[in-house]
Amino acid sequence: MQAPYLHRDELRARIVRLPRASIGLYPTPFHPLRRLSRRYGVGMFMKREDLAGPGTISGSKTRLSEFILGQALADGATHVITQGADLTNSGMQFAAACRVAGLEPILFLTRDVARHGELTEYRGNLLLNKTMGVETHHLTVTGAGAWEGGEDADRLAEAIRARREELEAEGHRVVVVPTGGAHPDGFVAHALTFIEMLDQAEAQDAELHFVFHTIGTGTALPGMLAAKLATGSSVAFRSIAINAYDEDGWISPSVIVERTKAVLRSIDVPVPADEVIRSEVDVDERFIGEDYAVPSRASTEAIQELARTEGVFVGPVYTGKGFAGMLDHIRSGRVPSEANVAFVHTGDTANLFESLSVVGDVTAPPVGR
Ligand SMILES: *Cc1c(COP(=O)(O)O)cnc(C)c1O
Repeated sequence: MQAPYLHRDELRARIVRLPRASIGLYPTPFHPLRRLSRRYGVGMFMKREDLAGPGTISGSKTRLSEFILGQALADGATHVITQGADLTNSGMQFAAACRVAGLEPILFLTRDVARHGELTEYRGNLLLNKTMGVETHHLTVTGAGAWEGGEDADRLAEAIRARREELEAEGHRVVVVPTGGAHPDGFVAHALTFIEMLDQAEAQDAELHFVFHTIGTGTALPGMLAAKLATGSSVAFRSIAINAYDEDGWISPSVIVERTKAVLRSIDVPVPADEVIRSEVDVDERFIGEDYAVPSRASTEAIQELARTEGVFVGPVYTGKGFAGMLDHIRSGRVPSEANVAFVHTGDTANLFESLSVVGDVTAPPVGR
C-alpha cells in the first residue's frame, strides 16, 4: 500500500496550524561546501541550524522551542524549567527562547566534576546563560549526564520537583522540558528543516541523496524522517551518534520510531508499519570516542579540516563528531562518489569556548594530509 504523498507546501500548511511562538530566524541558510566537495568528489552542502538565532550562537533546539513554548504560552505558562549537562546547548537555546517569548527560564545543570573538574569560571554556554541572567541550579554528578537513571537522576528530578512546587504555590504555571529539549510538542519542528532543505537544494539545482546529522537525545530525526515519509522523498538519513543507541538504553532506534509515528499523527499522515520507519534509521555509534563531552581525535581533525577549508566552525561535543562521521562515510565509499550530501549543522559552537577537557586542542598544527 502506497500512501498518497503530500506536497511540501501542503505539509508546511499542516504544520503552520500547530501552536507556535516566533523565536528563530527562518529559513536557515543552506549552502555548498565547495572546496570540500572538490576534495572528496561529492556535492557537499550544509544546513545552518547553528544560525537559527535569536543570538549569534544557536542550534537545533531553537526550532523545538518554537513549538514547545508556543504550546506553553497557549496553556498560560509563566516559567520553563529545563536541565542538562552544564555545557548544554539545549539549555542555553531554551533560555534565549524564553527571553524572546517573555517566559522565565530556569536551568538545572549537572557537572561531572571527576572528569571536568570543579566549576571555576563561566565559559561557553554557561557564560551566555549568565549574561541572560538565567536562574541556574548546579548539581554534581558522576558520569556523562543524569540521563541514564540512578541516584543522580533521582536527585535531579527531586530538585526540579521542589522548585516547581514552590513556583506553583506562588501561583505560577511551570512547563518542564526534558534534557535536550525532548518534549513531545517539539518533535514536529524539524519536519520544517527537512522541507526547507529540499526546497533550497532544488533552488540550487541539486538533488540531495543523503542527509547527515549528529544524533543525541533524538529530537531532530523524528521530524525530518516524518517529513521524508510524508512527502515520499528518496533522501537517506545517516545519524552519527554521540552517545550509545542500544535497544535497552534510554534512547534507541525504537524511541525514534515511536516519536516519528507521533509526528505523523499530529499532521494527519497515515502511519506506515514500524519496520518501514525502522529501516530508515541508520545510527553510526563509531564516533562517540571515549565518552560524551570528551574530545576525540577524529572530531578535532574534522573541526580543523572544516575550519581550514571552508571557514565554518563545528563544535567538540556534537557536531565535530558528526562531521567526522560524515567525512569517514565519504572517504570509505559508504557514500558513492558524485552523490549529494547535506550536513545539518545543529550548533555546538559555544563549546569551542569551553574548558580544554571538552574542546581539546583545536589550534594544533594540521595533521599531514
Ligand atoms: C542537541 C544537539 C544534538 C543532538 O540532537 P538530537 O536531534 O536531539 O539528537 C546534536 N548537535 C547539537 C549541537 C546539539 O546541541
